[in-house]
Amino acid sequence: MSTSTSGLRLHGFPGGLKMRHHKQVSCRQPPAVAEIPKRLYIPIGQHQGEVGTLRVEPGERVLRGQALTASEDDFVVPAHASTSGKVAGVVEWPASWPPGSSRRCIELISDGCDESIEPQPLPDWQSRDSEAIINHLRAGGLAGLGGAMFPTAAKLRGDWGGLDTLILNGAECEPWISCDEMLMRIRPEAIINGARILARAVSAGRVLIAIEDPMDEVGAALESARRQMDSANIVRIVRIPAIYPEGGERQLIQTLTGLEVPHDGLPQDLGLVCHNVATAAAAFDAVARGWPLTERLVTVTGPGILEPRNFSARIGTRIAELVSQAGGYTDQATRLVLGGPMSGIALPSDDIPITKGSNCILALEADQVSRPHPTLPCINCTECVRVCPAGLLPQLLFKAVAADHEDEAAELNLFDCIECGCCAQVCPSHIPLVDWYRHGKDRLRLKRLDQRRAALAKRRFEARQSRLEKAEAERQARRERRRQKLAAPDQAKSEIQAAIERARGKKD
Ligand code: SF4
Ligand code: SF4
Repeated sequence: MSTSTSGLRLHGFPGGLKMRHHKQVSCRQPPAVAEIPKRLYIPIGQHQGEVGTLRVEPGERVLRGQALTASEDDFVVPAHASTSGKVAGVVEWPASWPPGSSRRCIELISDGCDESIEPQPLPDWQSRDSEAIINHLRAGGLAGLGGAMFPTAAKLRGDWGGLDTLILNGAECEPWISCDEMLMRIRPEAIINGARILARAVSAGRVLIAIEDPMDEVGAALESARRQMDSANIVRIVRIPAIYPEGGERQLIQTLTGLEVPHDGLPQDLGLVCHNVATAAAAFDAVARGWPLTERLVTVTGPGILEPRNFSARIGTRIAELVSQAGGYTDQATRLVLGGPMSGIALPSDDIPITKGSNCILALEADQVSRPHPTLPCINCTECVRVCPAGLLPQLLFKAVAADHEDEAAELNLFDCIECGCCAQVCPSHIPLVDWYRHGKDRLRLKRLDQRRAALAKRRFEARQSRLEKAEAERQARRERRRQKLAAPDQAKSEIQAAIERARGKKD
């Protein structure tokens, strides 16, 4: 346990690794505004959750900021046009995960005018209730910009019985990613105001903005903005030790509060909610300035990039276009990664468009990716257990997934794995453990989806059977009544006679 310079008592989390940082490589100059490409591929679903219904037709002209899909609930995040132009149609376009997959994208042909809709800020947001703020954030297409892309409105709304603390995560811990650090340097006011907006949305009386120690320039910029804008004095800037993965949500909460998020619970259960600093800046843009989310900062870096730097890029820009504006690849570039070297995803192509969660494009050279040794069997050394920040048993998880024992992997809390890569980093057998965990999670999700589908189909079948049985029973009852009438002709006759007389009476 230690104390930060802000006076907050800091705690730790188990495991983790000290990493050598390379953020300075892309942080030497301010971010460049990336050129708007001729064709953008805006994924219809960029977030965790359902996708919205299309609101545009092929051939239609749209303006920057115009909603392309409709949002029916908090788990449906609308996609917006990143520039003005013509909708060419909906196409299947390469996606980052799973390998070789594609996703539906709206192909937008830029008309070069970059004409925008009228901005629609939320007037007097300082005095508006949480409902109005969250609805505005939803309409602005906000999803977590830290990489997870969880719908922001869904994270904020809910009857949590009082959230007291908002945590803003500015402790991007991957060694090469610098977009959050750059954002905190160039837009500290947007982050402080965004923090106030998010805090108001959940009625939190305290905001902790976590940054890595040392980040002196960032700390000074945020502190100065805080002094100007935080008259209620609810925001604190907290420097935390740079131990990977301290930027993981659960690890950050544990570091700042000493509280452990229960394995089947949420931070909200502890009265906390955690967002990325970039999400806070986007909340400021949506609520105070009236701009939906159509661009983000992306770090384009690594030894395989000629001129590494950060770009302010429109959502839907292909990675190849950003790499070309960063001088292109070096001759030795061999692998492209979305995210950092520890938890990123190897990309099969640079045709993939950037989404709201794309924080870094990393190009590595052969000596950074080649494995010095082939993969060997697990020797049960438990090194992976020592460094796992989630308190898991990575070697047992690996064995369960490799043996296709998904249920056993689920019991070992596979879904608590944050895919930080610490275990794979220290494994003397060079087992690509994180790839196995992702594979296991995909299989488990598919299995659960199949189970849900089967349960739904069973319910539908049973409901249909019950309808058919009821209809058959009614038919039988009608038949029985008719049969009984025929069996008693006098009664039938008298009923017919009575009906005739009733009809005559009416006629008279
Ligand atoms: S570090 Fe590798 S070899 Fe050692 S126990 Fe874990 S998986 Fe097995
Ligand atoms: S990747 Fe998963 S299992 Fe491995 S150290 Fe990180 S959290 Fe633990």
